[in-house]
Amino acid sequence: MPPKKRVCLGRRTALATTRRVSRANESLEETTARLSQNALRAAEIRASEGDEQRAVRLSRNAAATAASRASEGDEQQAVRRSRNASGTALSWSTETPQEQRARLDGNSQRRDNIRGVTCPNKQFWFRKAFQYEAEVNNSMRGDIQIGEMRFTCQFCRALKWGGESPGMCCSNGKVSLPPQPLRDLLAESSLTSDSFLKLIRKYNSAFQMTSFGAHVVREGGWMPTFKVQGQVYHLIGSLLPSQNCKPSFLQIYFIADYNKQADARIDIFPPPEDDEEHDTLDRDVLLSLQRMLHEKNNYVQSFKCALESAPS
Ligand SMILES: [Zn+2]
Repeated sequence: MPPKKRVCLGRRTALATTRRVSRANESLEETTARLSQNALRAAEIRASEGDEQRAVRLSRNAAATAASRASEGDEQQAVRRSRNASGTALSWSTETPQEQRARLDGNSQRRDNIRGVTCPNKQFWFRKAFQYEAEVNNSMRGDIQIGEMRFTCQFCRALKWGGESPGMCCSNGKVSLPPQPLRDLLAESSLTSDSFLKLIRKYNSAFQMTSFGAHVVREGGWMPTFKVQGQVYHLIGSLLPSQNCKPSFLQIYFIADYNKQADARIDIFPPPEDDEEHDTLDRDVLLSLQRMLHEKNNYVQSFKCALESAPS
């Protein structure tokens, strides 16, 4: 037999009155402490209840809420709703990104349960892909497995997944990785990579074949920008230097002695006054890059051919 309910739930007992007075006089800290203690007690009770007890409690709460709402007037309803809205807004404004994620996931799960969806739709997983969470283990989900990298690009030998487009790695062989030693220098797998990458613009200039040409616009006074008009072009000059002139740009490539070539490149950037080592080009790196260009660069090889076949 269910326990007999009290007829009067209006809290007009002596105990209720004492409590009401005591609560009216308590400070904010005391209220917070009391409520958190209540919450703890409720959590303990709920943790110990069985499925059936829980179902009974929830249905009793739902009935009580429905009865209370049915009896409230328009004004009371408006007050309740606005109080709820402010409480919700306050709670959302203080939640962490993780808490927000958990809340939204929970909402989505609840919505799916109501609709009878047992597995989130494709859109859900699509959005999930942009919200990667390291602590979520998706390896057990059969529906989002993309398989192994079983495909090999015939041009660059890159391993790829089945869904990747053929040209994604090397644009169908149009892009090739630079030869050694440049590849290791760029990939930071060489001991001299650090200093090379720091001075990469100087190294680039040391090997340039042409000079830059354009109609430079000068407007007088201090100009914070470099302004050109019309087209930019590259000045190539003659393959050999004029008499009594030092070889420059492409001409350096035709100095017979590779050591002298390296000297000419180092001369482009004379050591600074304070002779700080970290700002000077490394001779060994220069020599190795120079050798690579002579062996692999199409332009250098064609110009050398042109020079050899030219009438002296
Ligand atoms: Zn490729």
